[in-house]
Amino acid sequence: MVTTPTVGFIGLGSMGSGMSSNLQKAGYSLIVTDVRPEAASALVEGGATWAATAAEVAAASDIIITMLPTPRHVTEVVSGPGGMLEGIADGATWIDMSTSVPEVADRVRAEESARGLRILDAPVSGMAKGAASGMLQIFVGGDADDVERVRPVLEVMGDPDRILHVGGHGAGYAVKLMINQLWFSHLVATAEVLAVGVRAGVDLGVLRDSLIASPANSTFVERDVLSILEHGDYDEGFAIALACKDLGLSIDLARSVGVPVELSSLVEQVYRRARASYGDKAGEMTPFRLYEDLIHSELRLTPELVLAGSEEQA
Ligand code: NAD
Repeated sequence: MVTTPTVGFIGLGSMGSGMSSNLQKAGYSLIVTDVRPEAASALVEGGATWAATAAEVAAASDIIITMLPTPRHVTEVVSGPGGMLEGIADGATWIDMSTSVPEVADRVRAEESARGLRILDAPVSGMAKGAASGMLQIFVGGDADDVERVRPVLEVMGDPDRILHVGGHGAGYAVKLMINQLWFSHLVATAEVLAVGVRAGVDLGVLRDSLIASPANSTFVERDVLSILEHGDYDEGFAIALACKDLGLSIDLARSVGVPVELSSLVEQVYRRARASYGDKAGEMTPFRLYEDLIHSELRLTPELVLAGSEEQA
């Protein structure tokens, strides 16, 4: 008889809440923790077990998933007092799905090599929306047989066609950081050209259609920018403080491998300016607002519809 593994989930924020809820719906027995106990209420009502520490989560789990803000939080949860390493059983699996760096996992593999722990980095794309719908993209780094063993668990949280085994340990983190770097670069570049074009007198819709019909088209221009242009939504589901963390990690990675990244550094500075202007909790797309503020105009395709929609919601 095949037994369903017990899954421990640590970090029940914008992303972790949807991901853990999907695991629960799929029938996995869950044990969870977060520094905000209220984040676990719905899961506990649904039958999940609450644990006070990461060590308790680990002691009761076959697979432990972490979904935490930054490498500092991952370090605390893994090797701090009451951390995962105090409870984890020999041979158990830890999957870090945070956007992070390999140092913590590398240290665990080196220091705990006798315990046979199986460790994967599996960061995600797809926003809080994708976490809630179970349609995340997942980029997995680690040993192929470990990836295949946990694939059924990953498939509950992600789109099976977009769960990619991208290489050995750390490759998942690296791919995810490069994806975010490029996407944030697209955002800043798009905000610049739309602001300049509109200021030069071109209609926003015509300008965007022209970009889409041109060799300069991108998924960002075609799809992602619409959340701002149609809804004024800067995606508060992903805080700009975390976007700045990702840009910092991406530039650290570039430095560590000896590649100068002038453009990435500029994009990082634009993001830091937006964070300073609009606050840590502003959405990841808020740098766009810097350009709207510069031209004293919100870039919206259908202002009258946006207005009508917001009146309905009020
Ligand atoms: P979040 O801040 O909403 O959630 C993080 C959760 O971790 C919070 O509930 C927090 O209370 C908890 N936490 C912090 N320290 C803890 C500790 N020591 N012990 C237990 N719990 C702790 O962040 P998020 O938006 O869910 O992002 C999580 C990770 O996923 C980040 O690395 C982020 O970069 C990445 N990510 C986010 C998005 C997005 O759209 N939000 C998309 C892709 C990837």
